[in-house]
Amino acid sequence: MPSAPAAWSLVIHGGAGVMTRESLGGADPGFSTALNAALSVGGDVLAKGGSAVDAVEAAVRVLEDDPLFNAGRGAVFTAEGRNELDAAIMDGSDRSAGSVTGVTRTRNPVSLARAVMEKSPHVLLAREGADVFSLEHGLDQASPAYFRIEERWQQLEAMKRAGGGTAVFDANLKYGTVGAVARDRNGHLAAATSTGGLTGKRWGRVGDSPIIGAGTYADDRSAAISATGSGEYFIREAVAHEICARVRLAGVSVQDAADAVVRGELMAMGGDGGVIFIGADGSMGWSFNTAGLFRGCVSADRKPIVAIYGDEP
Ligand code: ASP
Repeated sequence: MPSAPAAWSLVIHGGAGVMTRESLGGADPGFSTALNAALSVGGDVLAKGGSAVDAVEAAVRVLEDDPLFNAGRGAVFTAEGRNELDAAIMDGSDRSAGSVTGVTRTRNPVSLARAVMEKSPHVLLAREGADVFSLEHGLDQASPAYFRIEERWQQLEAMKRAGGGTAVFDANLKYGTVGAVARDRNGHLAAATSTGGLTGKRWGRVGDSPIIGAGTYADDRSAAISATGSGEYFIREAVAHEICARVRLAGVSVQDAADAVVRGELMAMGGDGGVIFIGADGSMGWSFNTAGLFRGCVSADRKPIVAIYGDEP
């Protein structure tokens, strides 16, 4: 942990899963390039004195626009062959938050979540209502064709052929939920997460990403957290808030709190995945219990680093 925190810092993720050098065929089809692009855009915002909220939104938008990740454009398909997107954003300075679930037409759901936070008296808007709110507030709209990525469609077809009915988190599929956490020059924290959820999801299933306290949380008194993994377990453990509460009330480091929750309690329940964090003290890092986590970080005094596998620093 740095003795004096860097002037600003940013950590991002692009999903957790069973990524090994063998499973990616020794080649990276562009994940590292995309993570670097998101770090550069978000880092620029912070370097120029922008807010943590601006930075996490900007970084997540880059990953939403990239079809490699299961968020925005590259979102997975539901059992009915639709894309239903979830996203959340939280401002640690006053714990204001906004989130959306099951939206179908917004190009960048993280920006819709921000509009909910700033332009409505609510925290979470769902499905048709959230789509209407998006239109009314002038967010960029996209057609179903924009979200139809062939590889994602084939994943749904494969799941159907295998007789899969109920969506479950499958770490083998290397889903790429995306997220970002930031600390700005004023010491304020923010977190954002965006996802298409799970391939083949039904019945209006909602994961952890848009649930404040489960997949996303930011509190200037403790930390900013964004999660990825088997959402149902993250909801039951209230992972993001649990980590922040341990830091604030038990006085442990963010890394220790994150490890105790993700590699301890969550794993004991059967939950797979990980989190990225930035502490109020400027500490930054991640904790995951899967083989890999697409991730990266940058700060005022640290060049960008991206990593995929568990054995990387
Ligand atoms: N946590 C997400 C969900 O359950 C999925 C993921 O992280 O890939 O919707």
